[in-house]
Amino acid sequence: MLEISNLHVKLEEEDKQILKGVDLKVGAGEVHAIMGPNGSGKSTTSYVLSGRDGYVVTEGSAKLDGEELLDMDPEERAAAGVFLAFQYPVEIPGVGNMTFLRTAVNAQRKARGEEELSATDFLKLVREKAKSLKIDAEMLKRPVNVGFSGGEKKRNEILQMAMLEPKLCILDETDSGLDVDAMKLVSDGVNALRDGKRSFVVITHYQRLLDHIKPDVVHIMYDGRIVKSGGPELALEVEHNGYADILAEVEKA
Ligand code: ADP
Ligand code: MG
Ligand code: MG
Repeated sequence: MLEISNLHVKLEEEDKQILKGVDLKVGAGEVHAIMGPNGSGKSTTSYVLSGRDGYVVTEGSAKLDGEELLDMDPEERAAAGVFLAFQYPVEIPGVGNMTFLRTAVNAQRKARGEEELSATDFLKLVREKAKSLKIDAEMLKRPVNVGFSGGEKKRNEILQMAMLEPKLCILDETDSGLDVDAMKLVSDGVNALRDGKRSFVVITHYQRLLDHIKPDVVHIMYDGRIVKSGGPELALEVEHNGYADILAEVEKA
């Protein structure tokens, strides 16, 4: 499903190489976690997959179901089924949350050659999904993320994800700044989207999220590369010992 090979990325503004050969293969229905020290390139990887400006791919590829994502503009990637839940969800003053969701869902459906949802069907769907994430009607009416608490923003990201039904969900530190209850809601929301086909890349600093969203594979990113991969036990090792041992082992090899 997702196959990143030898991905090299530098900043557009300055001659700084951020990603130095990322390799990552995520099969259909799999959940992969990416951990790693601050500044390793985790967010950059997610930005580059979603097509954000400011980064230049100097080498490598990133394919979704065999199609090169890096050749697509951000809208095409979204239509192809890539969804990125941001570490810092953006506020969009003046655009109602409901309007935003409806526009996004219908754009997605159009790109897939499906008919737009009727106003009634859309309302039904959004209310049902919002309810499970404990997002009330008031929050749906307010401008996107404006004045939302950290936890509300993250839940709203998961609502967008649930509405768009992407093929590949990338979550960048969706757990950071969440209290235990909010993290449970977010995790339940993500788990509800697991269907054996949809794939997930979950970027996190904390093992505790992975207690809720059980990963198939855990990767450690360091200095622009995936330096180690393993099962869920790798996340526990990080939790207990930090990165020092793993990185020392990598340096030696
Ligand atoms: P992580 O998410 O693993 O903490 P990032 O992908 O955010 O790491 O950043 C990787 C490195 O690239 C860091 O050294 C960061 O400072 C640098 N970097 C990323 N984006 C920019 C940018 N737009 N301008 C300057 N430096 C950047
Ligand atoms: Mg960071
Ligand atoms: Mg980051």
